[in-house]
Amino acid sequence: MIDFTLSLEQKKLQKKARKFALDEILPVVNYFDEMDVPPKFLLQKAHAAGLNNLGIPKEYGGHGYNLLDASIVVEEVAAACPAMGTSIFGNSLGQEPLILSGNEGAKEKYLSACVREPKIVSFATSEPGMGSDVAGIRCKAEKNGEDYILNGTKYWVTNGGYADYASIFATVDPKLRHKGLCAFFVEMDWDGITVGEHIPKLGQRVSSTTAVHFDNVHVPAKNVIAIPGTGFLLAMKTFSSTRPIIGSFAVGAARSAMEFAMDYANKRRAFTMKLSEFQAIQFKIAEMYQKIEASRLMIWKSAWEADRGMDNTLSASITKFYTTEVAQQVLNDALQIFGGYGYTRFYPIEKLLRDIRVLTIYEGTSEVQRLVVYRYLSKMKPVMPPLDELPRLKADNAEQAAREGMKEQTAWRCRICGYVHYGEEPPDHCPYCFFPKTAFKKVWPK
Ligand SMILES: Cc1cc2nc3c(=O)[nH]c(=O)nc-3n(C[C@H](O)[C@H](O)[C@H](O)COP(=O)(O)OP(=O)(O)OC[C@H]3O[C@@H](n4cnc5c(N)ncnc54)[C@H](O)[C@@H]3O)c2cc1C
Repeated sequence: MIDFTLSLEQKKLQKKARKFALDEILPVVNYFDEMDVPPKFLLQKAHAAGLNNLGIPKEYGGHGYNLLDASIVVEEVAAACPAMGTSIFGNSLGQEPLILSGNEGAKEKYLSACVREPKIVSFATSEPGMGSDVAGIRCKAEKNGEDYILNGTKYWVTNGGYADYASIFATVDPKLRHKGLCAFFVEMDWDGITVGEHIPKLGQRVSSTTAVHFDNVHVPAKNVIAIPGTGFLLAMKTFSSTRPIIGSFAVGAARSAMEFAMDYANKRRAFTMKLSEFQAIQFKIAEMYQKIEASRLMIWKSAWEADRGMDNTLSASITKFYTTEVAQQVLNDALQIFGGYGYTRFYPIEKLLRDIRVLTIYEGTSEVQRLVVYRYLSKMKPVMPPLDELPRLKADNAEQAAREGMKEQTAWRCRICGYVHYGEEPPDHCPYCFFPKTAFKKVWPK
């Protein structure tokens, strides 16, 4: 029923992505991180290697990789540099609303262009004044005949510094909240679009993050990917596909941190022994592995659901906040094993730690994921009966119960304190909490 074996194609893909990560990304990213300059050429190389645009369907010339395939590629890239993972996978995030839309003309035109050339695609819901509250978008889309005019500012746009295209979420009226949201696939060289300066950040410095400003930008009707009222759902569906992949950033980074920590612990000596000979260090490493393995399983499960057309909203959210939070623990523990050297810029741990800090923030913060999960759970039909209907049979003693079975007596449960009374009638009041007879509900026979 369940098979965790990677197919031959997936193993080949993993090998290719790993080679790219080790040969092309790992040796150069530290320089660009230090310079705070995103290396655009790596995105072009990823395109040439066939390792971006992962989700473009075959009918538009793409690889047609599913989400599980994508998670395999992204883990490898992120193992070398989570920020390059953000940038390379940023294309898939930018393309996903278009792929999910019903706009065949735009899909044909833009997805095919992305396959042919190393086009860069961004995604923007966030604005200077809002991020988590997607329904609070203020970027204005005004109807102009069949077309729209866009005015407003998007913030935190990944790859904004050099994007060719972007999926832009806007509103016809901020007061309508989610009912007013719409989305457009825009060409970034259209009149009225201005890109802001590269935003300086703690980590993810090799990933371009900018604002994008829209000043009376004319968007033709053929570039609408969500009509007003449908943009919110499109954004949420996009996140269901992309949130498990944020988990792959976390797993890739955590996996590398664990390997680096093991290597260091095998070489560094203290108190006449290798660090790796101390059980306290071994325990830390074993826990790192446990967290990485559990994270990967959650990602694969969520991707598996999505790839079968199932609604993976719940699994995407638990995956996102679990994997990204445990990756922070793994990175912290790895840095601890490195001691002072972990805190230097000579070794890779500090960059990994800086790069992954954002994973609990972007694409929906950990708090937002918890909100999603709780909302979902509160609508789920429980297996267990409600507490005030919980049956409870009794026997005079255990021996009798084993011999004759439990007594079938009428049972009444106090809805306030849970006490169960046996008899034809409930008591006048509860002997424990003193609530009156009306507090009792019959729980047996059903
Ligand atoms: C490096 C980077 C790249 C990014 N790339 C993109 C991109 O490509 N496209 C894009 O659209 N956005 C992007 N973002 C933006 C990112 O998605 C937002 O930063 C994120 O959604 C959080 O929004 P915010 O920063 O406005 O925080 P806020 O929404 O202002 O939240 C601030 C804090 O309050 C908490 N909070 C808010 N509401 C609640 C609530 N109801 N209950 C409990 N806690 C709450 C949040 O969890 C958070 O801790 C990027 C951000 C970064 C840092």
